[in-house]
Amino acid sequence: MAVERETKLYDVEVKRRRTRAGGGYEPFWKTKTVVDALADNDTEFRCKDCHGVLKLYKTHKVGGPPPYAEHKSKDDSEYCASGLHFRKASDGREPRVSIAPVE
Ligand SMILES: [Zn+2]
Repeated sequence: MAVERETKLYDVEVKRRRTRAGGGYEPFWKTKTVVDALADNDTEFRCKDCHGVLKLYKTHKVGGPPPYAEHKSKDDSEYCASGLHFRKASDGREPRVSIAPVE
């Protein structure tokens, strides 16, 4: 029997810094593709829908999908709008932010 795989996420949020109006820097989250994030050497990622922790799949095999990310936690997938388990759920649940969001 085929094992259902967690949804492949090609768009993620990465933590960036920008200059603050009063001086100094402040962090903010920017949505970009995993491919771009790897090219830019970004190191902090989160799911753009539930802000949960992601696991990155960086290797690109010929004929395979481009680099992508998956939810690390099944709990996030259960309640994330783009999670496999959320999409499969038939109890009319509402998506919510991760219980352990990346801040
Ligand atoms: Zn998510």
